[in-house]
Amino acid sequence: MKAYIDFVDAWLDAEVVSTRTKYTERDMVKLAIGISKPKKMFKKGVETTYGRSFKMSDAFWESAEETLARHHRRPLYALVRHAADIVVAYVGYQDSQMDGHLGQRYVIGRVDGELKFVAWESRCSTCVAQGADSPSCSECQGRGWTPYRGSDRVVLGDVIEVERFERSPPATTPSALQILGSLG
Ligand SMILES: [Zn+2]
Repeated sequence: MKAYIDFVDAWLDAEVVSTRTKYTERDMVKLAIGISKPKKMFKKGVETTYGRSFKMSDAFWESAEETLARHHRRPLYALVRHAADIVVAYVGYQDSQMDGHLGQRYVIGRVDGELKFVAWESRCSTCVAQGADSPSCSECQGRGWTPYRGSDRVVLGDVIEVERFERSPPATTPSALQILGSLG
């Protein structure tokens, strides 16, 4: 798992740089470089949310410092290996308004021999509304998660290994604890 832990840690560090850049950088070239670091860790074609327009409103800049202060390094709660080259990272959020929640997971695979995020997924909103992962769920067919745009729908298969991490802030919501408890 070491290579996967290192990969995820490098991503979380890159996100910190990207977020700081997003809320502070007014130079177009520096913005493009700083913001794109974590994006390079995703397979080509998978959409991410790291971008920012060059020109932002006065309102954006007025609240930028405050918004940035609300963000922290994204916590990693668990890595789950499903196959030789498929590991899923269960993580929290950077925005402290989402502390305690777990609603996204990131699928790591190999692309041309290199580790990349080949998919990231959100909790299926239909399942959440119904309170259970249902095989008859029309949106996710029982997966419980729906892939983000451009993501592969990776067949995960059986769990081989689970590694848990005590990271701050901890996962605390009933849904987050249920997800982590069900990993095996
Ligand atoms: Zn569903």
